[in-house]
Amino acid sequence: MARIVMKFGGTSMAGTERIRRVAGIVRRQQEAGHEVAVVVSAMSGETDRLVNFCREANALYDPAEYDVVVASGEQVTSGLLALTLQSIGAKARSWLGWQLPIRTDDAHAKARIEAIDTDEILASMARGEIAVIPGFQGLTADNRITTLGRGGSDTSAVAVAAALKADRCDIYTDVDGVYTTDPRIVAKARKLKNVTYEEMLELASVGSKVLQTRSVSLAMKEKVRVQVLSSFIDENAPAADTLPGTMIVSDEELEGLDMERQLITGIAADKNDAKVILTAVPDRPGAVSSIFGPLAAANINVDMIIQNVGRADTDTDVTFTVPAADLDRTVAVLEENRETIRYEKLSTDPKVAKISVVGVGMRSHAGVAAMMFKALADRGINIQAISTSEIKVSVLIDSDETELAVRLLHTAYGLDG
Ligand code: ASP
Ligand code: MG
Repeated sequence: MARIVMKFGGTSMAGTERIRRVAGIVRRQQEAGHEVAVVVSAMSGETDRLVNFCREANALYDPAEYDVVVASGEQVTSGLLALTLQSIGAKARSWLGWQLPIRTDDAHAKARIEAIDTDEILASMARGEIAVIPGFQGLTADNRITTLGRGGSDTSAVAVAAALKADRCDIYTDVDGVYTTDPRIVAKARKLKNVTYEEMLELASVGSKVLQTRSVSLAMKEKVRVQVLSSFIDENAPAADTLPGTMIVSDEELEGLDMERQLITGIAADKNDAKVILTAVPDRPGAVSSIFGPLAAANINVDMIIQNVGRADTDTDVTFTVPAADLDRTVAVLEENRETIRYEKLSTDPKVAKISVVGVGMRSHAGVAAMMFKALADRGINIQAISTSEIKVSVLIDSDETELAVRLLHTAYGLDG
């Protein structure tokens, strides 16, 4: 017998018919002899609808009341799933965030889970009940409802799995696993059997939106085994234990599983960044600090940075990227600080894409970046900025060339299926 936390996303919960399918999948796990807790999202589109109501009610809405409104989507689906499970003869009940409770800090609309009281869930599971828990919601120390930020039910599921010391956290979603790249771009993309937490973190942060990034860091920290699977399996599919999803594992576990590791695990494209160029910034100590200090103070996350070689030792161009959503604020901050930064010209370009190759294999291999640059150069794709980490190389290119770049890199690194 294992203890399993199962999580179902919004598409899997969209409507009573789909919830019936979910109930069947959950029931089957329990019948296989496992202890089961289920974490659910709101029906797809529901949270957006609720967010809009808040905006309409009050453009400068109070985040604490926003949380009261948007947390309700998950309350509906957890009750409906419990009802549906009961209708097929399973014992089930819902446990709302405030009933357990799931304690969070008081950062409304983006709260972090601090502790989960598991007494009630454990007792419920011991009685043979399936515990259904709404994702995304929690409770502050002074008993106000919170939500965890968009996509937060993945984090709820991992946190519940950690608190229950579950053997596994199965995340059922509308894709059947993590792929070498977006299968809509590259038909030859392959589903990965295993991926490490760190790779998943890098892939999640560069645009592969399978799991909320925070859920992956939490899983890594708490050593929760996470499996990504499709909820659109047919009624007679084998139990999840033998289903071919993607397992997210530690480096050590991976070594035991997969000796013939590929150099690169996955390729991701992210079109959510914008490029900013400041020309003729004085080439002196403190110059870049005068640019990035005010941006940091405004809570704007700068990603790739290039400082060009100084011209005649007097000035230099600085290029960097920020989230496209923050571009207007970035421009405002830079214009406000023009006197102190003393740049000549400010220009921006939202038409860029960040292409990243990710893999723990590159730790022990030289030449990964060189291969990327050559593959792009051979097809005339210009690289506008570069950044690297221990297991990732990213380049910034014209966004029109995204698909071409991803496809040719997928082939160059031998990932085509
Ligand atoms: N319903 C919330 C959202 O749409 C949380 C989630 O589904 O993960 O962001
Ligand atoms: Mg999601």
